[in-house]
Amino acid sequence: MEEHAPVWNHLRGLQRLSLCDWPGRSCCVVFLGGCNLRCPTCHNFELAWNMDSQPRLSRSKFLLFLAERRRWLDGVTVTGGEATCAQGLGELLFEIKRLDLPVKLDSNGMRPEVLAEVLDAGLADLCAVDVKGPFHKYPALTGGAITAAEARTNLEAVFALAQARPKAFTFRCTRVPGLDADDFETARGYLPSGFSLTLQPYRPPRRSYALADHEARRPVGNVVNG
Ligand code: SF4
Repeated sequence: MEEHAPVWNHLRGLQRLSLCDWPGRSCCVVFLGGCNLRCPTCHNFELAWNMDSQPRLSRSKFLLFLAERRRWLDGVTVTGGEATCAQGLGELLFEIKRLDLPVKLDSNGMRPEVLAEVLDAGLADLCAVDVKGPFHKYPALTGGAITAAEARTNLEAVFALAQARPKAFTFRCTRVPGLDADDFETARGYLPSGFSLTLQPYRPPRRSYALADHEARRPVGNVVNG
């Protein structure tokens, strides 16, 4: 039997049509489970932190869907969770590109080496990277999953990639509770020249409070309640 990369086990969701995930394009959205951060404001926390709670979409069904829909789609958005955490991501992107479909990859920017690999291989056309806020707020914004220094190192590596490939990156920041106008200015100031930071509205997660089940791992980041 043909062996496939672990990435296919992360395939946990498909939105068949979106008109807003990739501005100016009608695309489908593929959701890969797993994430290296624990943001208290996460919408997709079941998918991000406990992907086995979500039904798996088989590789064959996904590829059949794409083959049938490719003429009506302008591209595919690959999101998560955090797609760069899925081992063998390139294999999934390759199958999409094989159908001549452009790829937008959403990322939290914490695995710049994966973004570099994917771009070098021509497997993504656009990387939409989150800049969550000032570096010193990353521990709170990510549930303690990353230090300020790690956030800086990773994002600076992403910014260097963006400088080399200006058309391949966009940056966005979500107006989560705990961030103010000065924070957005600070985050904007990190970007290489020529880039703008798109501010996204914050939609609270579908739960009444921020601390829950797997919350033991994110004690410092309760900015939802705060
Ligand atoms: S980076 Fe944060 S918001 Fe995005 S999927 Fe991971 S935990 Fe959720």
